[in-house]
Amino acid sequence: MSKITDNVICDYWFVLKPNIYVTSNAERILLYDMGRGLHLESEEKDCISFIQTVYESQNLGVGFLSRSMLTNDKFVFFVNRVIDLQMADIISADTNDKPASLLPVFNLKRNNTCSQSTNLIYYLTSLTLYINTDCSQKCKFCDLYCKQTTCCANKLSEGEMSLDFLKDIMRQTSASPLAKINIVGGNILEHKQFSSFVEVLKKANTSVHYWLNYKNIESANDDNLLKQMQHQNILVDFPIDEAKLEKVIKKSNQKAIYYFLVDEESQYQQVGAIADRFNNINYKTIPIYNNYNIDFFKKKVFLSKEDIFSAPISRNKISCNQSFNSNYYGSLYIFPDGTAKANPNAEKLGNLNANSIAELLRLEMERNTSWIKLRNNEPCNKCLYQYLCPPPSNYEIIIGKSNLCSLKTETMY
Ligand code: SF4
Ligand code: SF4
Repeated sequence: MSKITDNVICDYWFVLKPNIYVTSNAERILLYDMGRGLHLESEEKDCISFIQTVYESQNLGVGFLSRSMLTNDKFVFFVNRVIDLQMADIISADTNDKPASLLPVFNLKRNNTCSQSTNLIYYLTSLTLYINTDCSQKCKFCDLYCKQTTCCANKLSEGEMSLDFLKDIMRQTSASPLAKINIVGGNILEHKQFSSFVEVLKKANTSVHYWLNYKNIESANDDNLLKQMQHQNILVDFPIDEAKLEKVIKKSNQKAIYYFLVDEESQYQQVGAIADRFNNINYKTIPIYNNYNIDFFKKKVFLSKEDIFSAPISRNKISCNQSFNSNYYGSLYIFPDGTAKANPNAEKLGNLNANSIAELLRLEMERNTSWIKLRNNEPCNKCLYQYLCPPPSNYEIIIGKSNLCSLKTETMY
């Protein structure tokens, strides 16, 4: 590995390796190795302008280092650090022509061609059906849960979806690459035609996930119906009635996943104790913002710089973060009255009584209520980590803050 020494004897070509992603603003530059997760930052003006030039699309990762540039010690230190981290190589420019590099070009433009496509249904990958809203439980944050995670809600809409409506949805989506259908309520077990729904959904060419609160399972009369559900997702709100939860664990599918809706730190201990007691359960914890627990969120949800760089971020991931919102892209939510949205917190796209699913997808592509919501608003659009950070989520919407991170402004200009 060549490095620049005190006795510079030639000009060099500087060749950035193809797996290096560069992001910069007027005050700072970041080089990020997408394969190994290493990163290097600099505030030196010469370093910023040199790497910015190297990274311009016409230069494709190759820059010219003249002898005169190499009289700047800070610049040489930076270049050698880049070489040490194996993010770039240098070769003599006196004896070599300009080398080729395979630096990828990150395309920031939206792909709108899909909006003209006739096969819009192929963009649908996840469908969430709110089949009813009735529920006799009184969970403390019913109206907040459903805005932050897949969860039942009896306050989001009204009524009950008909079987004919479901069959029509199945017909319209039969050609789509649906990866998942979520069935949520209210209490879905109280839907008058629920057993018929389960029969229709058994024929769906995709996985069907049923979402139920554990208290509604505990009070259900027909355990046989429960067994027929392909994927059981069991929501557990606080305070937990452990006696009821134990009954549910005993009668549920072994593959059921338990989602503990946690809104304060001490609740993690209770979840841990339950997991220890029933050591065969699959479970996840979902932080819930309850309007009063921002300190809990700062501790458990807000990103730190260490979180951002805790694991390598692939080229694909960065490209995705520049192009679409992976939290929402491909999703459609349909409520009992036919109202359709791309996200429960987004504006209405239309109504399935008046619009086909393909039309609703086209409307989302035209209006972008959710699918292409990126980190391109302040302050994230001025931050070096803009596309290294995961895309905005429903937490940002509910909390009303576009950057849920603990970063100081040194990365933003
Ligand atoms: S079980 Fe679900 S729908 Fe019923 S009150 Fe609780 S959160 Fe709301
Ligand atoms: S300001 Fe935005 S892009 Fe920057 S670290 Fe925070 S959330 Fe991520």
